Parts: sequence; structure tokens; C-alpha cells
Amino acid sequence: MCRNIVPLNNLEPAATDEECREAALQFVRKISGTTAPSRANREVFDRAVAEIAVATRRLLDDLVTSAPPKNREEQAAKRRARSAERAAGRGWSPVPESTYPARLSLRPGDEGTAVAPPNPLGRESPQGELYMAEVPPRILVVDDDHDVALLVKTVLERRAGCVVDLADDGRSALEKAAAVKPDVVVTDIEMPGLSGLELLAELRRLMPTVPVIVMTAHVSVEYAVSALRAQADEFLTKPLDNARLVESVTRLVEESRRRTAEAKTGEVVLAIGAHPDDVEIGVGGILAAHAAAGDRITILTLSRGARGGDADSRQHESLAAAEQVGARLFVKDLVDTEISGGGSTVRLIEEVVQEIQPTIVYTHSHHDRHQDHRAVNEATIVATRRVGTVACYQSPSATIDYRPTRFVRIDRFLDDKLRLLECFQSQAAANREYLEPEFVTATARYWSRFGGGVAVEPLEVVRETAEFIGAHELTRRES
Ligand SMILES: [Zn+2]
Repeated sequence: MCRNIVPLNNLEPAATDEECREAALQFVRKISGTTAPSRANREVFDRAVAEIAVATRRLLDDLVTSAPPKNREEQAAKRRARSAERAAGRGWSPVPESTYPARLSLRPGDEGTAVAPPNPLGRESPQGELYMAEVPPRILVVDDDHDVALLVKTVLERRAGCVVDLADDGRSALEKAAAVKPDVVVTDIEMPGLSGLELLAELRRLMPTVPVIVMTAHVSVEYAVSALRAQADEFLTKPLDNARLVESVTRLVEESRRRTAEAKTGEVVLAIGAHPDDVEIGVGGILAAHAAAGDRITILTLSRGARGGDADSRQHESLAAAEQVGARLFVKDLVDTEISGGGSTVRLIEEVVQEIQPTIVYTHSHHDRHQDHRAVNEATIVATRRVGTVACYQSPSATIDYRPTRFVRIDRFLDDKLRLLECFQSQAAANREYLEPEFVTATARYWSRFGGGVAVEPLEVVRETAEFIGAHELTRRES
């Protein structure tokens, strides 16, 4: 199951051992920074989960209280209400159920007012986009005046959904910056020890991609303004204009992430599916392997899968799965079973391709009974014409003509794939036998006939380019 750690004390009925283990697993994943430990770390990872599960059980058994036991349903309802409140405050994930009607009304002809979700990074949402999961911005605020620092922290947390760390002088700021890797640094100029200017120079040297906002109370010092403009990304005067602070920070967070992305090497993966769970079934193991390799992953789901079950719960499930594999998620709102392979779908995919600039794309095969899958294949082939590597995964509806040429071993990642698929409970409940662990395992086992090992995901390669033959030039010419 994919869920965050939640209170398990004093429940009626009491927390199960499985719940203790799940909580321990989430904890270890978060602390170790991976959902897919390498072979070398698998044992210590599993041991930590087991030990923490035991400690959790003991803790729950030994806690004493005179309060009446908590009703599970009431607790879950409270959590949903809280997350709705938080999401409303910061305008993003997780999308609370209560805001769905507003989002759904983006589809023309629906009842209700068309309220687009507030966008913390100030980006225009592409047409039909319902939702996008993002990691909240991390900001380091440096000021020896504790009141100012707290004020900035509060404003950024409440209005921009940031996670804010504080430092009260330049030296501790450098240490903190190295530890938390902020998206943006906001610093005072005049501080004891290392001044804001010296801090700025040091940060430029150590973390050249991190934007820095400088604040000062001395408005009259115009020369400082011009001197700083050369190096600081933004200059704010105290007392701070909160709206301007929020605007500058959100803009620079985006800038920072763009710079970081450009500086990073490694693959940029885009996995495209017609419905929630298509991508996870087709390349769940491969995505887990990409995640373990530190590649950036984006999942694009073109419909909310209303025909295959409740669209809201399917969207929650997609989100849980994306979080688990560390992927960014785009969910579009094309009509389930009526997806076109033509212009409108091509444009939706092109927008995402334009934004994330993938180096590898996974999509549906043309050899598939489902019309949506074929349409997505067709539109993807057009929209990804400039992408170096494009390959098609197998869906449960693949036809006998599905003919893979590449066999990717996922021995180490089969468990991760099974966990990803566990996220799609509403589908499992609807008797989708292809989601059963045994079915998934057997399919992967079957393809290992060709790929070796014990588990393989097959791919039909549409196009594959490699560095040494001048991939860039070749793909350019083709388009
Ligand atoms: Zn599908």
C-alpha cells in the first residue's frame, strides 16, 4: 500500500502488524532516500524495516491512555480535511477530494465554475491539465535579526508553500546550505562574521546554480544596490513587501530548478500512458531502475480513466505511484475510450516534451486491442520525433503482434514494480487479474526467456540513438 505515516495509537480496531511494517517501510524509504535500494543495500534496508516494525509494535502495545479508542473512519476523515486545508493554503499536492469538482469543471460542458488550481510557481497550466505533483520549494533564510527571519519564514511557508530553514549568520548559513541544498537563499546584508556580500560570493563559488535574494534595511545605500545587482538575483528592501517577496521567491525557485536540471546529466525519462496504471504495468520495473540510477522521471497520463473506475480514486492512485517512484506526474483530462491519435493529443504530448526535454520516452504499442492505447502510440510517435530514444511497452491488451526487440532485466526491481501496482487498489478490486502479483511476476518471468535473469520487461524499439554516432544530428535531420 502507498500511504504516508499516520498515527496508529489507540485505534479501534487496533493497528495490525502489517500497518506497523508499512509505517516502518515508509520511514526507512524516506530516511534512506530511496524506494529501491541497490543490491548492496538491500539487506540493511530490509533489516531496518524489520527492526523499526518491531519497535513500532512494542511502542503501540506499551502506550497507555485513558482516552477512548479512536474510530478509524473518523481519523481518516480528519486527515483528509487537514490535507485539503493544507493544499488550499499552498495550492498544490496532494489534491484534496473536495477540490475535484472545481478541477473537473475544466472540461467544457460540465457544471460549476471553471476554477483552475492555483499555481505556486506562477506557471500557466497547459490546457486540460488537472494536476501536477511537485516537491515543495526549499528556502534558506539568513538573518541575524530573529524577528525578520521568522517573519520571512512564515510568509514563505503560508503563502508560497515553501519549506524554510533558518540561519542567523553567514557561516552557519553555508553549513546549512550544504546540508539542505536549498532552491533559493534569502539573505540579509549586514550580519556579524561573514556578511551577506561575502556569503553571496561563497555561495556563487560553492553552489553556482542557487539563486540568492539579498535584503537590506538601508534603502539609501544605492551603490549597494547596483553593486549587488551584478551578483544577486534579486534585491529587496526592508521592511519587506510580502507580495514581492513571494513573487521573487516563486519565480527564482523555478529558475533554480531549471538551472539544476540543465546542470545534471543522466537520462530524462518520460513515460506516457492512456490511463492510470498503464505506465506502471508496462514499465514499472524499468522506471524503478531509472529512479535508482538517479534519472529524472516524468509520467504523463492522458485520461483520468473514468471508464475503468472512479476517476478521483484513480487519480489519487496515480499520484501515490508517482510519489513512490519519485516521478513528476502530469494528468490530462482526455475522454477515456475516446482519445484521438491526432492533433489535439499530439499537442498535449508536445507541450510536456517541450517542458521536460526527455532523452527517453516509453509509450503504448501500436499492437494493442485498446483504441486509446493505439491512439496514444500514434500521437506519441509524432510528438516525440526529436527525442533520441522511443520504445513501446506491453499492455495487458497487447495483441499477438506485439514484437519486442529489447529485453530489460528488472530482477532487482520486480518487487518495486509490485509495490507500484499495489497503489492501484480500485483496479484490483474490480477484478483486474493482470494486476495480480502472480500474473505480473509470471509475465516478467516469461520474457526472461529472451532477456535472461528472472524478470524482464520487453520493449518494441521505435528509435534508439547513441552518443557516439552523433545522436543529436541524426534526430535533427529526421525531423
Ligand atoms: Zn490503458
